[in-house]
Amino acid sequence: MRIIHSKNHPIYVGEESLRFLPEIILKTDPSQIVFLYDENSQQFAAPLVDQLLYAARYLKTFDKDSIHKIIVASGEKHKNLKTVETIWTELLTHHIDRQALMICVGGGVLCDMGNFAASLWKRGIRTVLVPTTLLAMIDASCGSKTGIDFQDYKNLIGTFSAPEAVLCDPNFLQTLPQRELLSGFAEMLKHALISGDYQKYCNIETIDYKTITPFINESLEIKNRIVLQDWKEENLRKILNFGHTIGHAVEQASFHTKQPLLHGEAVALGMLAESNLAFILEKFDAAWFQKIQNLINKFYANCKFSFDTEAVLLYMQNDKKNQSGKVMVSLPFPNQLIDLDIEKDRELIIKSLQIILP
Ligand code: NAD
Repeated sequence: MRIIHSKNHPIYVGEESLRFLPEIILKTDPSQIVFLYDENSQQFAAPLVDQLLYAARYLKTFDKDSIHKIIVASGEKHKNLKTVETIWTELLTHHIDRQALMICVGGGVLCDMGNFAASLWKRGIRTVLVPTTLLAMIDASCGSKTGIDFQDYKNLIGTFSAPEAVLCDPNFLQTLPQRELLSGFAEMLKHALISGDYQKYCNIETIDYKTITPFINESLEIKNRIVLQDWKEENLRKILNFGHTIGHAVEQASFHTKQPLLHGEAVALGMLAESNLAFILEKFDAAWFQKIQNLINKFYANCKFSFDTEAVLLYMQNDKKNQSGKVMVSLPFPNQLIDLDIEKDRELIIKSLQIILP
């Protein structure tokens, strides 16, 4: 078990990390506790959490009227104001006050949305994040970004709000479906490519709970190092958007297909298309581009799907990362930014997208 120090809070990483939950609750001394789950984390993670807290005899010291469980629908399509309203309505019903603690147990959707709802409830109540997917462990739960989607646009509404602590226990990954594991692995690859230390990822043949667990700590360390230097994403942190400018747009386009992409799958395709763009613009040499291409194609070739390039361009145009009408693409190692004008660079972007079409 390791403790990573993030901005104003610790991140506990490793097999024993969940055991720190009673201690954290004790330290925050809340008036009430609200556990927030989605349907799947309620089924797969809640038993572990309950068992631990009851074994620690901790919850017995609480009046049962002070502990509440809220369960929301799972999946990106529920990461919206309607679900947040459901959470707030429950908080109102249970008279949750400003000294309460919300413990968000789930994937990136649940942690982003729970932390968002908590950051605005009575001007903000404290949270603890217990990520239960790989993507949430190495990415979504680090960096204090909260958010929900709005009218088809990803994470358009959100706040920066640091939790009291984050507990990343890889034991939760044992029940995670393979496709979700692979989705989280894409963000791990992104961190490795950004840091330049990616060689060991080239040797991974199968992605499962056992092969991935040893990489969680270092992947989180890479993200945390960047976040600590630029919390509000004014400069360096933009590099974490590698793959996301095209990735978010492709993800949105996929929502209208029979098999929508998972977030990490879209980011993997985004990294490939953005690397292609960088190669066309001579920002990447052939060898570096080839390495990235091999890595992504090894795991994500099946994610390619037919999409309307015009629709993807439109989504890119409305991306929240845009500044003064320009679209920004962040390239890794060495860290660089490309400014694109959708109208002027239209043909170039369409050319770069060809590599992720089947
Ligand atoms: P998710 O939260 O939808 O979880 C994926 C699926 O796994 C869901 O169906 C969930 O119910 C289920 N699940 C969760 N834990 C499980 C477990 N232990 N066993 C079995 N099933 C389980 O998706 P995600 O991939 O975790 O997160 C994606 C979200 O994270 C996106 O909305 C993205 O925008 C966000 N994100 C945020 C940040 C940030 O900095 N805040 C960074 C990256 C991604």
